[in-house]
Amino acid sequence: MTSSHSCRMLILGSGPAGLSAAIYGARAGLAPIVVQGLQPGGQLTITTDVENYPGFRDTIQGPWLMEEMQAQAEHVGARMMWDTIVEVDVSERPFRLHGDSGALYVCDVLVIATGAQARWLGLESEDALKGKGVSACATCDGFFYRGKKVAVIGGGNTAVEEALYMTNHAHHVTLVHRRDSLRAERILQERLFAHPNIDVVWNKRIETFVAGEGAAGLVGLDLVDTVTGAASHLPVDGGFVAIGHSPATALFAGKITLDTDGYISVTPGTTRTNVPGVFACGDVMDKSYRQAVTAAGTGCMAALDAERFLAEADFEAPVAESAHAA
Ligand code: FAD
Ligand code: NAP
Repeated sequence: MTSSHSCRMLILGSGPAGLSAAIYGARAGLAPIVVQGLQPGGQLTITTDVENYPGFRDTIQGPWLMEEMQAQAEHVGARMMWDTIVEVDVSERPFRLHGDSGALYVCDVLVIATGAQARWLGLESEDALKGKGVSACATCDGFFYRGKKVAVIGGGNTAVEEALYMTNHAHHVTLVHRRDSLRAERILQERLFAHPNIDVVWNKRIETFVAGEGAAGLVGLDLVDTVTGAASHLPVDGGFVAIGHSPATALFAGKITLDTDGYISVTPGTTRTNVPGVFACGDVMDKSYRQAVTAAGTGCMAALDAERFLAEADFEAPVAESAHAA
């Protein structure tokens, strides 16, 4: 039995971009359906403190912010679906998409807000030790390293925040970075350098995540100096890879124009993709800002662009919401 959902506006993704598009789309009377994907609430659900989202003088929690955004979207009429889109056909309108659940989604306009996913170093040893000492999410797995020694790999905001966060659990944290300066913002760098339980190891790349005997999991990192080539070893119980994120666009390859880094291309100053009626917002189309507030801002733009498109497009009648067994 396959369920089928028809709507004017379908939104893929429930991070700040997708939920902002949902709030604006619902208030415009488009009764959007939001397909939430594997990470309802998006990337902010795997962090703790958020200090730069406007409107809150005190530090707020990422998961709480996303719950509030979802509640607001539902309050104004957006409908959430626990599903992940696995197949997309945007060759003609209405667009047809298939969910992992088997459901078919049919829509007049599509808003893509699928965000980004954590990048890995791509080492065999990393793959072998994922879940056995190697992780890409300190807030998810940090608890398991109470009183232990861990390393965080990377030099951006995420790496520095994860290193600071891990001091809540671990006895000692080493930040391993491939260069001699960080790209994280200054306020985070100052906190990092001032912390007594954090060291920074500069100019090092990971050669191997080293496994212990038997089922011991990770016991250390074999490092190589990126300047001198010298080898060294860092004993740790946990390794957190925090080297950025890649846009979640595999579904759209060959169907919607992507740039050379895999981000969805949009007409500058808009959220319009090369396919009329398909809009993109948030981290999936933005490789320079990648903030919750910019994702929310482009989510708003996508809903407004979609609303204008529908007003101008020559549709015979709005597709009505329906659900039936086929
Ligand atoms: P995402 O938040 O990535 O959401 C993507 C959504 O798409 C998810 O709901 C996912 O389930 C869904 N999805 C993916 N594929 C599919 C599919 N096939 N079908 C259906 N749904 C799908 N920014 C700040 O401004 N302040 C901070 O303090 C901050 N801290 C951060 C801490 C960490 C650890 C990380 C990783 C990021 C942080 N950021 C922060 C960045 C911020 O989280 C992102 O810029 C923002 O979440 C991007 O929003 P988005 O809606 O574009 O995508
Ligand atoms: P990022 O800014 O792209 O930084 C990635 C870091 O990983 C860089 O330091 C990079 O090194 C390093 N790196 C990349 N590939 C590597 C590899 N193969 N081996 C070793 N190191 C590698 O990613 P991010 O820190 O995840 O941040 C992503 C976005 O989210 C940014 O826009 C950021 O501002 C935002 N964010 C914001 C906050 C906040 O506002 N508080 C918190 C988290 C994230 P190089 O420096 O040498 O390139």
